[in-house]
Amino acid sequence: MAQLLEMRNITKKFGDVVALNNISINLEAGEILSLCGENGSGKSTLMKVLCGIYPYGDYSGEIYFAGEQLQSKNIKETEEKGISIIHQELTLVKNMTVLENMFLGNEITQGGVTDDNQMYLRCKTILQQVQLDIDPNTKVGELGLGQQQLVEIAKALNKQVRLLILDEPTASLTEKETAILLNLVKDLREHNISCIYISHKLNEVKEISDKICVIRDGEHIGTQAAQGMTEDDIITMMVGREITSLYPHE
Ligand code: ADP
Ligand code: MG
Repeated sequence: MAQLLEMRNITKKFGDVVALNNISINLEAGEILSLCGENGSGKSTLMKVLCGIYPYGDYSGEIYFAGEQLQSKNIKETEEKGISIIHQELTLVKNMTVLENMFLGNEITQGGVTDDNQMYLRCKTILQQVQLDIDPNTKVGELGLGQQQLVEIAKALNKQVRLLILDEPTASLTEKETAILLNLVKDLREHNISCIYISHKLNEVKEISDKICVIRDGEHIGTQAAQGMTEDDIITMMVGREITSLYPHE
C-alpha cells in the first residue's frame, strides 16, 4: 500500500495551553486508523489541523497528503484535495432536500445552467452506495439522525473523498444505524478510501480499525496494529497505567 497521509511533528497551542505536542501519524491508502484518547486529549484538535479548520501557520509541523505538502488556508481547500471531515453534530441544512444539500456550492452545470437531471441521477447512485433507500427530494429534517449521518458521508463521496475523517459519528446513532455506518466504512476501504475514526466505543474501534493510535494530554502514546489488541490494552494506553510494548515512532 502506498502512503497517503503523513502528519509530522504537529504542535498546536491555544494561548499557553499545548493541545498537541509534537504528534506524528501516518496512514496508507485504504487504511482505517482509529484515534483513541480520553476527553480533552486532543483528538478533535488534531483532525481540525488536518482538515484546515486550523489553517497552515496556526500550528507547527507539516502535513503531506498524496505526495504533496498540504498548506490549507481553510476547510474548503482541504476538501478539494480529497479530505472530508464529518463531525458528531450534523451540518446539513434541514429544510433543504438531500439533493440540494449534496450539491450545495457544487452544482453540476451544463452550458451555464444547473443540470438537475444529472444531479438527481448522481445523487441516487451515491445514496445507493451508502445504502440509503430514500428519494433525493426528501427534506433532510424528515430523516433520522443515522440517515442524516449517511447523507453527510454521501456528500463527501460526491466530492471524491480519499480520506474520510469521522469524529464520533455514532454518538447519537442507534445500534442498527451504527452497524450500517461501520459496514459502510469497511466498504469504502475496499475502494481504497481511507478513514480516520474517532469513537469512545472501543468495540467499534476494535471492529473496524487496521491501526489504533492513542493520544493522551496532547502526546502521542503509540500506534499499533489493531489485530491482537484488546479493549483493555487500549484503555491502558489511554489512561496511562501498565503501559507495555509501545511503538511510539513505528
Ligand atoms: P478531544 O477531541 O480529544 O476530546 P480536543 O481536541 O477537543 O479533545 O481538546 C484538546 C484540548 O484543547 C483540551 O484541553 C481543550 O480544552 C483544548 N481546546 C480545544 N479547542 C480549544 C479552543 N478552541 N480554544 C481553547 N482550547 C481548546
Ligand atoms: Mg473531540
